[in-house]
Parts: sequence; structure tokens; C-alpha cells
Amino acid sequence: MISHKSTLLETESAFDVLARAQTLISNGRRIINLGIGQPDFKTSPHIVEAAIKALKDGHHGYTPAPGLPDLKESLVQYYYRHFGQAVDPANILVVPGGKVTMAFAMMLLGEAGRDILYPDPGFPIYRSMAAYSGARAVPYAVHEDLGFSFKASEILSKVTPDTRLIILNSPGNPTGGSNLESEVCELVAGLDRFPQCAVLSDEIYSRLHFDGAQHQTLLQFEGLRDRLIVLDGWSKTYAMTGWRLGWGIWPASMIGPATKLAINIHSCVNAPAQFAAQAALDGPQDAVDEMRQAFQDRRDLVHGRLNAMPGISAAKPKGAFYAFPNISALGRSSKDVQDTWLQELGIATIAGTSFGDAGADYIRLSFANSLDNITEALDLIEAWIKEL
Ligand code: PLP
Repeated sequence: MISHKSTLLETESAFDVLARAQTLISNGRRIINLGIGQPDFKTSPHIVEAAIKALKDGHHGYTPAPGLPDLKESLVQYYYRHFGQAVDPANILVVPGGKVTMAFAMMLLGEAGRDILYPDPGFPIYRSMAAYSGARAVPYAVHEDLGFSFKASEILSKVTPDTRLIILNSPGNPTGGSNLESEVCELVAGLDRFPQCAVLSDEIYSRLHFDGAQHQTLLQFEGLRDRLIVLDGWSKTYAMTGWRLGWGIWPASMIGPATKLAINIHSCVNAPAQFAAQAALDGPQDAVDEMRQAFQDRRDLVHGRLNAMPGISAAKPKGAFYAFPNISALGRSSKDVQDTWLQELGIATIAGTSFGDAGADYIRLSFANSLDNITEALDLIEAWIKEL
């Protein structure tokens, strides 16, 4: 009964594993959740207070579809402050979550006869929404030995006159990798030859780089701006996944159609959430820094312990909150390892194949959990491997 293109939609296994873990928990099992892709921190109190105040002050109605003007102005200041970039508020569209910018980009650029390039392994919704748009979803590799960066020459070899969108993501989910600056520069230069091809830069982990590394937003490439869509949001930076808040920075030629999609689909973002969003951007950033440091400490633990285990090798995550160890030497499929660890050890993780065919040798461990729980999980995994 549903349309053919609707049958092409895929899902995010993280939600399936979460549901299975919750069923086990309700049956009395203890489960350590290393599957989930959201910070295990609470939204800062001053942000929560701003939402409560907005409700009490009577902000209960629709807002302008692209977002409250003051909130967009705060985003402009945010880009100056954190990334040294000038952004025109007219190009900003505030949306209910990072995913919405992703979906809109593919709905606006994808159709039959066009190609959309996406990272494999990568966030599963890229492939799903690209296919749903009617476009051909074309994977490109990210390489473990390059810290899970892409190679510009490989992407460029896949770009044809039919390619309308290339999706980049750094720091990356599921790998925790980041794209090499030299490869990004080479790619941007190479795209001069393909002016019909837009870029969606998924920068949702922009504030979660480790070891003092600075985020390099693609906005720095002035020559790309007329076909660059930047996706970012509050979910990961401010521990606000459940608030459903994100933003897109769109090229002038696309902001109108993107806003029309917003009006057709959700009208505007929930008003009190927008006040909270502004408080997050304008207020103290200590919680962001503390969270990043906590993730980095856990990264060090996870990376060190995994590499000391026989049959496992793990690249050092450079950002986000995921490790993506190579488990091919264990001789079991990643799905089998995921299911066994959940059922036998009570540890939720996500099979690499959930992120694309090229994830077959890997498993994703999120370190959005306490050092104690992570240590307990790693002890169990180590003992399990020794018994294999
Ligand atoms: N992009 C990437 C790479 C992600 O990992 C996620 C969430 O896990 C999103 C986008 C979506 O973010 P949001 O929850 O704000 O929709």
C-alpha cells in the first residue's frame, strides 16, 4: 500500500538495540549501555530554567518558521566566537534536531537520475534518506589507517555530472575519527570541476574534538559557500538530544526551499525550546568543556584497554564519543558479537554493519557511560575474549 520509495527507508539500529536492552532491564537484567549515541549528562540547569521561564512568560505560540530572530542572532555570534566565521542570519534555519537538516538536504537535492555520496561506515540515515529521495546512494570509504578520514582522490573518482550531493561528517559517527585537513582541502579544490555538486557537512560533533584540536568548519571555504549546507545542533554539545533542536546553515539559493519544507512539515520549532537553545549558546560553556574532558578521559581508558585485548585493535578516537574497534581477528561477525555481548555479558553495543557494509569488521562502543560502568564492561569483554 505504501509508496515504493517508502519501502527504501532504513532504520537506526541504535534504537533497536536500546529497545532490546530495555526489555532485558525490565526483566531484571543489569545492562551496561555502550550502545547509545547520546551524552549521559543532563542539560545544564540554566538552559532548563530558560525553557521554564519562556513557558511561564507565555511563549506558547508559533514562531517565525526559520527560528526566533534573537536565536538566529545568537547563532551568528556563536560562529564568530567559536569558529571565527561570519554567517548571515538569513541563511539559518532552526529545525527540530540535526536529522531534519539532513533529511531536507536530501529531499531538496535528491531525485531519480542523481547520485548522493555518503561515508561508509557512516550515520545510517544518510543512506536511508538518500535512497528515499529517489537518488542513487553511493558509498565512499573512510580509512582506519587515516584515523577514519576519507581520501579526496577516492571521493572525486566517484563524482560524475549526476552527483548532486556529497555528505561529509567530522568528527564522525560511528568511528570517532576526523577528516584530515589535507584531504578536505584537496576535495574542496577538486569540486571546482563539479559546480552542480553540493556538500552537506554534518558537524553535529563540532564541539567534541579531543586533545585540544580545533574544529575546522567547512564554512571556512568561501568558494564553497554557495553550495554548502552545514548541519549542527544542540543535541550532543549541550546534552539536549531529547529537546529536538538543530540548525542548518544553507546557501542563499536553498534557504527559501528549505524554509518551505519546514512550513510544510513542522511550521516552526517548539517556542520554549528555542529560548532554552538561546540560553545554551549565550550562557556559560563550562559544562561543554567538562563533558568533553570526561569523554576524553573515557576515550583514553577505552582505547588503551581495547588495544591490550587479544584479537582487537582500535584506532584512537579524535572526537565524538565512540570507539570503533576492529574485531575481525575474533572470527565472529559483528552482529554475532553485538548479540552475544548483549545476551551473555549484558553489554549493549552496535554492530559495525549497522553503519554500512564497510563496517563488517567493527563494532561501535559509545563511551556515554560512567568510567566505572565502562571499566566493568571492558573487564567482562576481556574475560569473554580470553575464553574464546
Ligand atoms: N548526525 C550524526 C553524525 C549523528 O550521530 C546524529 C545523532 O546521533 C545526528 C546527526 C542527529 O542528531 P539529532 O539527534 O540532533 O537529530
